Amino acid sequence: MDFEKLALKQPLLRAIREVGYSKPTPIQEKAIPVLLQKKDLCGIAQTGTGKTAAFALPILELLLISGVIRASKCCRTLVLLPTRELAIQVADCFEKYAKFTAIKTACIFGGVSDIPQKRALLHGVDVLVATPGRLLDLIAQKSISLKQIEFFVLDEADRMLDMGFIHDIRKILSMLPAHRQNLFFSATMPSDIVDLAKSILRKDYETIEVVPTFTPVECITQKVFHVGKKQKSLLLKELLFIHPEMNKVLVFSRTKHGANRISETLSKAGIASAAIHGNKSQTKRQEALGNFKTEQIRVLVATDIAARGIDVDNVSHVFNYDLPELPETYMHRIGRTGRAGKEGEAISFCSPEERFELKAIEKALKMKLPEGDSSILEKILAALPKESKPENYQQRKSKKKKFKSPKAQEKPKKENTENSPKLEVSAPEMGKSRKKRRNRPGSRARRRLRGEIE
Ligand code: AMP
Repeated sequence: MDFEKLALKQPLLRAIREVGYSKPTPIQEKAIPVLLQKKDLCGIAQTGTGKTAAFALPILELLLISGVIRASKCCRTLVLLPTRELAIQVADCFEKYAKFTAIKTACIFGGVSDIPQKRALLHGVDVLVATPGRLLDLIAQKSISLKQIEFFVLDEADRMLDMGFIHDIRKILSMLPAHRQNLFFSATMPSDIVDLAKSILRKDYETIEVVPTFTPVECITQKVFHVGKKQKSLLLKELLFIHPEMNKVLVFSRTKHGANRISETLSKAGIASAAIHGNKSQTKRQEALGNFKTEQIRVLVATDIAARGIDVDNVSHVFNYDLPELPETYMHRIGRTGRAGKEGEAISFCSPEERFELKAIEKALKMKLPEGDSSILEKILAALPKESKPENYQQRKSKKKKFKSPKAQEKPKKENTENSPKLEVSAPEMGKSRKKRRNRPGSRARRRLRGEIE
């Protein structure tokens, strides 16, 4: 199917050609005809599926044919998003697609002066893309009214709830006119999200699910390295050094300080990188994102919240430097790569403290994540400072022998493995029972590297 078959107006088709879309993505193919019939829609889709165009294009088409004229300080479409980055990104899409029409779009979000935003709303807009807090602010200041709303879009609903926006959303809903078309998008549909969707959508709404929940896009290769917390930065650097094809890399950190630390370590190692998180100013975040998009920096380190707004094409690799607490977050993270049919790779670092998170992710994925190349771990071990190398462990072990209980001393002597080569065990052997592994020469070193033991 191509866009011509979707009954969109010429100015929209021209804009689609200009942005370079040759054919609709599955969600666009399914959602556009439903929305053009003025039905409500519940879309279950991850970022990267083309969901923005799936709702923006039919809304623009309907705005063009409805012929209603925007009133001052009013908007005809309201798109609610949880973060400023996402709001900017969606507003950009509306502007791109409406380039050859007279449709006017505005974008409002917190953390910046509201003066230019109020000015943009003065004569009314056709599409208002907003974050909930700033919208309520400007409504309270009577800079915008929702009484003319024809279309209401709640995007990234699960994230909205995660971020505690439920009360703001309910407040905004109470201000919307009863007669309107509703669009609800969420990557996951736990029961509280289903309840919210039902409270917004009209009874005959349609549901479209493009990628089943927890099924990652097929073109993403996933793997996990079991590595100690302290060795994660060494592993990241090593992987980046030996894989030049990792050219546009997004690294996820659980904390803001962690993100700063990772970025600093990489920069010191000569790998161009920047960190984005909530403590960075909007300008700094935009600058880092811009540099990443234009490939002036190779690595962008982000926290989950800051990353919500990231829409960068061709991300080659996603690193889960820290595993996320929720499997849903894992899905969102890895969905940043392998977009628009391109191949991507998601690499997770799992420290012993994160086993629980890994298990939850694997359960949700219904598969065990394959392990990364163990020879890289060996290389890192070799590069560790002398005192932390396994020989020292052996020395400590022999010292400890002095305190062995008489019972233990009676046991038959084990083969001396002191000078055995370390970590020579091939990958298939990794599947052996724990007991066997424990007795294997050098296995303690491997466990130590993984951070299983101090
Ligand atoms: P979204 O899921 O809306 O965030 O879109 C993800 C990416 O896919 C964005 O970079 C879009 O520009 C791109 N995209 C959306 N629709 C299409 C399409 N039909 N063909 C190619 N790329 C698309």
